[in-house]
Amino acid sequence: MDHVVLTGDRPTGPLHLGHYFGTLANRVALQDSHTMYVLIADYQVITDRDLPGEIQRNITELLLDYLAIGLDPARVTIFQHSAVPELNQLLLPFLSLVSVAELQRNPTVKDEIAHSSQQAVSGLMFTYPVHQAADILFCKGTLVPVGKDQLPHVEVARLVARRFNERYGPVFPVPEAMMGVRPLLKGLDGGKMSKSRGNAVHLSATEDETAALIRKARTDAERLITYDEERRPEVANLLTLGGLCLGRSPESIAEEIGDGGAAALKRLVTEAVNEFLRPIRKRRREHTEADVRQVLREGNERARERAIVILDEVRAAMGF
Ligand code: ATP
Ligand code: MG
Repeated sequence: MDHVVLTGDRPTGPLHLGHYFGTLANRVALQDSHTMYVLIADYQVITDRDLPGEIQRNITELLLDYLAIGLDPARVTIFQHSAVPELNQLLLPFLSLVSVAELQRNPTVKDEIAHSSQQAVSGLMFTYPVHQAADILFCKGTLVPVGKDQLPHVEVARLVARRFNERYGPVFPVPEAMMGVRPLLKGLDGGKMSKSRGNAVHLSATEDETAALIRKARTDAERLITYDEERRPEVANLLTLGGLCLGRSPESIAEEIGDGGAAALKRLVTEAVNEFLRPIRKRRREHTEADVRQVLREGNERARERAIVILDEVRAAMGF
């Protein structure tokens, strides 16, 4: 089937291995055969913090990460929320299609509230899954490569598409989520690997920074390395990371290390990660800030053209 693929990231910091194995690898795999939009979700930065922070710097870094992993801007439309007002306008009719109770039940929103540093929860925090429905549907997206934490949000987009079609006639396809080889990669502290939680291996980190981060990861005192997610989650997590980067099972790595202990495990994982990221890091250095800004300008224009057409269709369906 011919898909329209939509996915994206918040410009809150550098991309990490969780992104890679959760969604980025799928994007690269899909870009040749499908229409693809990649969104820099700048408005969503202020869902869980008061100020957007170093937003321009973060956007540039995100663009560099995209080019580094091999996204091809000639085939993929890379754009940002704040440059496409027609996308954001879809939030109004879409909010009318969901209940407050449905918004309050969203498990990912609850988790993000728990990790937020804000004193009070903003209205945007509750409504951003509906904003994400606008992200997906503004281009009639049908396939959404995301990590596991995003599944409830894709569910909201499906609900919005179905309800809109029921009320106003058939306008939107019902999109589907697509998960990567590791839909929820854990960070070096055992929680979800996350840009905002200081527990992530950044694609753009240096080899030394990567080594230092892995050295700090928690392990246990048993010398014999085994893969046991229940009993030894920290060790299992490192084995998983190494396995993903080497394209091997975590069990086979545990066997290879045997009774070498945590030090040998960390050495192996560090090498595996740095080796895996070497070509990505090299490609990153081949692009300038001016290059990536141009990519974004062109992407914003293309996305906006699409959004204008869809918003017109929505308004017509609603009788406005
Ligand atoms: P933040 O902490 O600022 O929210 P994040 O690391 O959660 O950052 P997002 O920009 O929110 O990153 O998510 C971008 C995409 O990457 C989403 O599709 C999300 O599901 C996926 N993703 C994020 N973290 C992981 C992870 N640890 N494992 C797999 N996929 C992930
Ligand atoms: Mg997130």
